Amino acid sequence: MRRFNFVYRRIDGCLTTLLLVVLACTASAEAQQPADFPFQAPLLDDFIKEFFHSTPEEQAALERIKIDVRAEQAYGKQMVESYLRMLKGQQVSIERRGADYRYLLALVQRVKPLMVQHRRYRKVNVYLARSTRFDARSFPGGHLVFHDGIFDWVESEAALVGIIAHELSHLDRGHQLRSMKRIQQLQSTSGHPAAFSPQAMFRNMKSMGKDFHPFHPADEATADFDSVTWTYRLGYDVRETIHMFARLSAENRKNRSVPGGVPSFLRTHPLNAERAAAIERKYRELFAERPRTELIVGQKNFQRRSPAKLP
Ligand SMILES: [Zn+2]
Repeated sequence: MRRFNFVYRRIDGCLTTLLLVVLACTASAEAQQPADFPFQAPLLDDFIKEFFHSTPEEQAALERIKIDVRAEQAYGKQMVESYLRMLKGQQVSIERRGADYRYLLALVQRVKPLMVQHRRYRKVNVYLARSTRFDARSFPGGHLVFHDGIFDWVESEAALVGIIAHELSHLDRGHQLRSMKRIQQLQSTSGHPAAFSPQAMFRNMKSMGKDFHPFHPADEATADFDSVTWTYRLGYDVRETIHMFARLSAENRKNRSVPGGVPSFLRTHPLNAERAAAIERKYRELFAERPRTELIVGQKNFQRRSPAKLP
C-alpha cells in the first residue's frame, strides 16, 4: 500500500495514465475470474480508495458536477442487472409480485415524494430477493433491492419506512454517482472524451471493486439524517428504528454478527450506540420543532402487509 501511495503521489499530474494502467491490470485480473464473480480482490479496492482520496475542496468540486440522467440510468441498469445476476447465481430468486413486494412498493411510493430529486427518479423499481439476508440496496437510476431477511428483523412499518428512506436518501444525494463524477472530471481535464462511456465506466468500476455500496461513514450518517427527517415528517415513530438498532446491536454482541451478515446500510458505519444516539438526537430536535403526539408504529400493518393510514 505504501509503495502505491508513493507512486501515485509522484505522478499526480498524470492521473489518467495511471488510471488506464490500473484498468489494464484489473482487466487482466478480471479475465482470470469466473464469469459470475463480479467483485475484485480487496487489496485493489483499498488501493483505489487511496488513489481517489481527495481534499474537502476537491470533494466540493466533485459534488457540483452534474451527471446526465440517461448516463446515470444506463450505469444503474448495468449495476442492478449485474447484482441481480449474482444473486440468481447464488440460487436467490428475485420477485416483483406478491404481498411483500406490493407492500414495499407502496411504502417506497409513500417516501419518494420527500426526495429533493423525486422528479429525476420518477420511476423507482423495486426488487424482492428471496434470501434470509437482512439487506437493502439502492442503485443509480432508481432501483431498490430488498432482501427477505428484512421481514424477519423489522417489527413495524415505522422501522421499515426508516430503511426505505435511508436507501432513497443515498439515491437522492447521488452517493453512488461519485465514481462517475470522478471519471467525468478526469475526462474533462485530460482530453480523453471518448474513453469512458457509461458501459465502459461500469465495467471499469466493477473491476475496481467500487460498485456496490462503497459508502463513506459520512454518507451513512447523512442517509440516517434524511431517513429520520422523512420518517417523522410522514408521521411515523422514529424510535422504532432506534429499537431495531438496539436489537441488532445486542445480537451482534452476542453472536459477533447478525444473521446473514451485517446489512450493507450498517456495514460502513459502526453498528453501535453512537449511530442510534445520533438518530435519537435528530428525532428530539424534530419533535421540539414540531411536536407530534400520535406517531404511527404500524406493527399490525406490518404483519398484514397493509400500509397504515397517514395522519
Ligand atoms: Zn446506507
